[in-house]
Amino acid sequence: MFDKKLISKTAEKYKKDIVKFLRDIVAIPSLSTKEKKVVDRISLEMKKIGYDEITIDPMGNIFGRIGKGKKIIVFDGHIDTVDIGDPSLWKVDPFKGRYEQDLIYGRGSADQKGGFASALYAGKILKDLKLQGDYSFYVCGSIMEEDCDGLNWQYILKNGEIKPNVVVLTESTSLNIYRGQRGRMEIEITTKGISCHGSAPERGINAIYKMAPIIKDIEKLNSRLKIDKFLGKGTVTISQIRSTSPSLCAVSDSCTINLDRRLTAGETEKSAIEEIRKLSSFKKANAGVKVLDYKEKSYKDLVFPTKKYYPMWTVPEQGKEVQTAVRAYRRLYGKKPKISHWVFSTNGIATMGMHKIPTIGFGPGDEKQAHSPNENIPAQDLVEAMKFYVAFTLEYC
Ligand SMILES: [Zn+2]
Repeated sequence: MFDKKLISKTAEKYKKDIVKFLRDIVAIPSLSTKEKKVVDRISLEMKKIGYDEITIDPMGNIFGRIGKGKKIIVFDGHIDTVDIGDPSLWKVDPFKGRYEQDLIYGRGSADQKGGFASALYAGKILKDLKLQGDYSFYVCGSIMEEDCDGLNWQYILKNGEIKPNVVVLTESTSLNIYRGQRGRMEIEITTKGISCHGSAPERGINAIYKMAPIIKDIEKLNSRLKIDKFLGKGTVTISQIRSTSPSLCAVSDSCTINLDRRLTAGETEKSAIEEIRKLSSFKKANAGVKVLDYKEKSYKDLVFPTKKYYPMWTVPEQGKEVQTAVRAYRRLYGKKPKISHWVFSTNGIATMGMHKIPTIGFGPGDEKQAHSPNENIPAQDLVEAMKFYVAFTLEYC
């Protein structure tokens, strides 16, 4: 049943095809909310491979299914990308899918069209080798992750028909097994003042001066946030500041700062907001605090509003999912895998963080490539991930 040599040989045989497919989808720009063209291309590839069922949900996420067994295994890969940033930093065209010395270059190659392509082609191996099992193998090309991680799976799990037993995130892990990440929040703090003519500031109340001690306190707050042995430290930083006033010759009547808060084990939306409310500077300024909302339209014009609170999550190292992954890895490579966590955030915030669906990560490419100029992924990683996804599916059943 688990013929390691045959799986490896077949994966190697498909290397040319997967490289071509990845280069194709890298060459189709797909910023968050603009994924339609890449979804169409993916749908074509799924047809070519012979997926049993291909569906696109009302939000615009695409699913391919193979088999209709009891165990629902979903391999998720977001197919949107961030923008390219400063073009002068790119030595290669970000949308050509250049292939050189076994590296595929371009925006989205590592983050994370590569992982998605590997999952898609794992389906081809299952199909072509007729590898049977009591599984429904799904590959999900999810959208809008870069703008709002997990929004896709919040929607799918609320409105869709798929109830996975396990989700494997195909984001880059350098072919290691990941089992969690810190959460995050986008928070806004506002102080109000009373404007007056700038020539007589004593007549008004300056909102910026009210904010100043809060800024100091946020910096101090960061240094005393909790450290978790596995996930690392909770952090907070101020990402933006702005203010309003009737003119440049007036006292400011409002000041707003935005916080990027990363949540480690044990930290929640409630605890993070409470900490801010407790700051003496915050109380003294009578300031306001809120978590921001996300309500952008998908490429299919669907709006699914959510709060920008992305809970942290982990699954236990000794749990079924991680141990299945460890066995699959050992069978393929005859050695112990490294087990770790992402530094950034993933769709796991919805699958595991909100809905408690066991979620793990395994993906080709290096996490450090994400959002960087000259982003690239080793083609051989794609082959290895393909093998692992097949091995995990068989081992899980
Ligand atoms: Zn990503």
